[in-house]
Amino acid sequence: MTFAIHGLPVARGIAIGRAVLVASSRVDVAHYFIEAAQIPSEFERLRVARDAVIEELQRLQATMPRDAPPELAAMLDVHLMLLEDESMAYEIRRWIKERLYNAEWALTSQLEVLVRQFDEMEDEYLRERKADLEQVVERVLRHLKGAATPMAAAPPRAPRQHDLGLHDTQDVPLVLVAHDLSPADMLQFRKSVFAGFVTDVGGKTSHTAIVARSMDIPAVVGARSASQLVRQDDWVIIDGDAGVMIVDPSPIILAEYGYKQRQGELERGRLVRLKSTPAVTLDGQKIELLANIEQPGDTAAALAAGAVGVGLFRSEFLFMGREGKLPDEDEQYTAYRAALEGMQGLPVTIRTTDIGADKPLDDRRPDTHLNPALGLRAIRWSLSEPAMFLTQLRAILRAAAHGRVHLLIPMLAHAGEIRQTLELIGKARSQLDERGQVHGQVSLGAMIEIPAAALSLRLFLKHFDFLSIGTNDLIQYTLAIDRADESVAHLYDQLHPAVLRLLADTIAEGARRGKPVSVCGEMAGDTSVTRLLLGLGLRSFSMHPSQLLAVKQEILRADTAKLAAWARAVLESDEPAELLLG
Ligand code: PEP
Ligand code: MG
Repeated sequence: MTFAIHGLPVARGIAIGRAVLVASSRVDVAHYFIEAAQIPSEFERLRVARDAVIEELQRLQATMPRDAPPELAAMLDVHLMLLEDESMAYEIRRWIKERLYNAEWALTSQLEVLVRQFDEMEDEYLRERKADLEQVVERVLRHLKGAATPMAAAPPRAPRQHDLGLHDTQDVPLVLVAHDLSPADMLQFRKSVFAGFVTDVGGKTSHTAIVARSMDIPAVVGARSASQLVRQDDWVIIDGDAGVMIVDPSPIILAEYGYKQRQGELERGRLVRLKSTPAVTLDGQKIELLANIEQPGDTAAALAAGAVGVGLFRSEFLFMGREGKLPDEDEQYTAYRAALEGMQGLPVTIRTTDIGADKPLDDRRPDTHLNPALGLRAIRWSLSEPAMFLTQLRAILRAAAHGRVHLLIPMLAHAGEIRQTLELIGKARSQLDERGQVHGQVSLGAMIEIPAAALSLRLFLKHFDFLSIGTNDLIQYTLAIDRADESVAHLYDQLHPAVLRLLADTIAEGARRGKPVSVCGEMAGDTSVTRLLLGLGLRSFSMHPSQLLAVKQEILRADTAKLAAWARAVLESDEPAELLLG
């Protein structure tokens, strides 16, 4: 039966395909595809882990005190029985063999199938065995941890779904449905076969949503219980424009969305023609369109979209998901230099790490502070780890010998932080001089992401060559709305008068002092506010490459002289959204 699940639209377009469910588990599980050649070794990992748990439980059984409650012995029996169940082992191996899932993913996928069966059971005793099953799987997962297989370097072809008797073609698009995906998970899936994403949690500018957007495939986040309601292999439609997922669509709905999908492709085809057109408004204002990237390899997409530089290289993506083994100076230098070379002489803005909050270094050790978004994040974390920060600064300064680098610092608020940061940059230079190592000049920029920064522009403009407004965080901190929390997503309002006031003042103050100001948050790529930002005086936008041509189209149709008066009225309004829509 057809039904729809509503969430937040985060990446445009329509995807139609079969659902691949990433089950959530209490143990943090890596999900990745293996190569076909790895199937036997993945079977073996599973066997070794299962045998280890059997041995563990048998040892427990043998050493159980005489006065132990009989329920305990019975529970161990049930656990052993489940572990030794050949039909369950067979089904798990099928996920590995036919879908090329890694062992952990296979195990949790089968668990999900069984849990649903248990939930439907009438018999209470049997229904309660679900917990036993979950505990057993958890034990096996723990054993699998630490014995992980390397991921497939290239994504395998679409899994052979017909082997499961599901349908007859090999090339059915796959749509990923998960409770949550960390930004590191998303990077792992980045070049995979998926045609779209849906997650239960997350806000429009959560980092997961940003990475989804960077994959340029339709995505919906904050779709509450999607991962509970959708089953493996259900047909689903993701409408990334409306933020809706349609499950088990009828033929009429399928046809309608198929048409929408083709229209979208045509529109993209039309936009591509604007690639080499200069971004100049009707009244002759030149606008700078820059790209946001996460990895050096993303520069290809930036150039393909006609970006005139990188306005935000989120360097933290080089640091995440490495289980504590941070990239050393040479590895970072190579990555930054690759980004510069990738941009073929165009400038690259490298932001120092923004680790913390929803971008933990390691998914296995998520940030457990009470308010991670208000905690040790971004420059605060960098200053608390000076050796790590100096390593990054040296790598950036060395890379700067090969091209035009703008060095950007996230989340600054205090004069003391600015002072410490500048001192460390100076120290990194002296260290390179002492080593006799070549380094280059950089221009220095600060992100305006905290209201306190937007209200102390004089201080920032005294010390920095340029400013970049991180609207994602500026909105989060101005409105006290966690950007990753879907339960307050309706209050996350980029058009709140307070947000617009901080934006307008920052743009105006930069212009007065002759220092460039850019916006690199998601607002820069949102065509519904392009005209407003132009009217407020913004002349530099940095966004994901996939958004760039649509924004350019808006710019080509705009007259900034006329927009300025209108933008002033919007700024004075108590409900700016009404003027924007009207
Ligand atoms: C922002 O906050 O707007 C920004 C660009 O930084 P990030 O999204 O990486 O926090
Ligand atoms: Mg930010």
